[in-house]
Parts: sequence; C-alpha cells; structure tokens
Amino acid sequence: MKKIIVAIDGYSGTGKSSTAKEVARQLDYIYVDSGAMYRAVTYYLLHHKVDISNQSEVERHLDYIQLQFKKVDEQNILFMNGESMDTRIRTMEVNQLVSEVSTLITVRRELVKQQKKIGEERGIVMDGRDIGTVVFTDAELKVFMVASLDVRGKRRKLELQEKNIDIPLEEVMSNLKKRDKIDSERTEGPLKKAPDALEIDTSDLTFDQQVTKIVDQARKEINAS
Ligand code: C5P
Repeated sequence: MKKIIVAIDGYSGTGKSSTAKEVARQLDYIYVDSGAMYRAVTYYLLHHKVDISNQSEVERHLDYIQLQFKKVDEQNILFMNGESMDTRIRTMEVNQLVSEVSTLITVRRELVKQQKKIGEERGIVMDGRDIGTVVFTDAELKVFMVASLDVRGKRRKLELQEKNIDIPLEEVMSNLKKRDKIDSERTEGPLKKAPDALEIDTSDLTFDQQVTKIVDQARKEINAS
C-alpha cells in the first residue's frame, strides 16, 4: 500500500503533538516530534551556557549534537548524544528560549536537513511549525491546527500540572503569545498555513474528533492512488 507523509503544523497548545501521535498509531506510521529536536538543541545550548547571539559559537556546538529517534515501548523517543530527551526538554526554562533558538538559521537548516532524511521512506506523521511549508512541501496531507489562546493556555497549564509543574495561567498564556509572535515573524521557516493545508480549529472539538478528521483524510489520500 502507498505510504504518505502527514505534515501537521500549528500554534503551541492546539493539541498537535498528542493528535499527531494518535494519528500515527491508527495509521501504523512513525510519529516524529520536530519540536522536540528544537527543544533538545535549546536544552544543550542552555546546559553549555552558549551565547545564542554568537552564531559561530552556536555553529561550533551544533557539530557536537547528535540527534536520533529510537523506538522505546512503542514510542518514538528522541535521544541526544545517547541520552533520552524526555521531561527535561519540557521545562519552562526551555519553553522560554526555544523560539529564539528556532530563529537561528544555522539551527533550522541543520534540523530541516535531518527531518527530510527521516521522511525519505514516507509513512510518517511529523508535527511542527514549518513541516508543510518547508520540510515536506510535497506531503500528501497537510494539516494546520488552530485554537483560541484561552483554550490553548488551559491545555498547556494542565499538561505542565501533570508533570508537577505549577505555573500561573497568565504566565503560561504570555509564554504562548510570545512564542506565537516569534514563530510567525521569523524570516526562516515562519509558522504559517500552507495554501494546500486543511485547517482544523480544535477549540470546540474533542480529541477523538480531531484525530478522526485527520485519519479519514489520510486514508482517502492513501487509497487515492
Ligand atoms: O512543538 P513544540 O511546542 O514542542 O515546539 C517548541 C518550539 O520549537 C516552538 O515554539 C517553535 O519555536 C520551535 N519549532 C520550530 N519549528 C518546528 C517545530 C518547533 O520552530 N518545526
């Protein structure tokens, strides 16, 4: 059977990652979280106290970062230099810096190159900000997810609470707003809807509804050839 690429882009907190993961499970595809790659690079730069305004310094450090997805307990987990990048890349500290790191052209070019390689054999669902517009412009199915800031803030707060991180809602929302702005305004691979993407507003949809919409569309694409 034909294998396709499902590219899911959208704002933070629209439920992209959890939706993409479930879509991949139902299609028996591999889920790739491109945001985790930007987060891992950010974590590394923070950890090594790299001045991110110094381009050659960032470039030098990029050579030491080796990223690899590996299947662990049926999940596609990101490893950086052999270390699993789980909760440590989901902290507020990383949240605060990740969008700035993601504006760096050297970082984007390197990660986009790696993402393209991961998708060579197709059969993947990748979520991010520039997947349908830059990484896989030829994806058979592109989805752009949106939701109101209020809904997104509440969802993100719950997610953090589940990890025992308690942050006031206002702070979570202002971080989301800040990231939206930086992500949408950067020159390299800005967050925007691809003209041929299917837009899904998840504000009033249940998780199952948003997953079903994408899976149904993906199956149509798979069966079309
Ligand atoms: O998806 P997630 O919220 O984990 O992504 C973290 C950050 O990584 C985003 O706010 C964005 O700045 C950056 N990112 C990106 N391009 C992608 C995926 C994520 O710039 N394809």
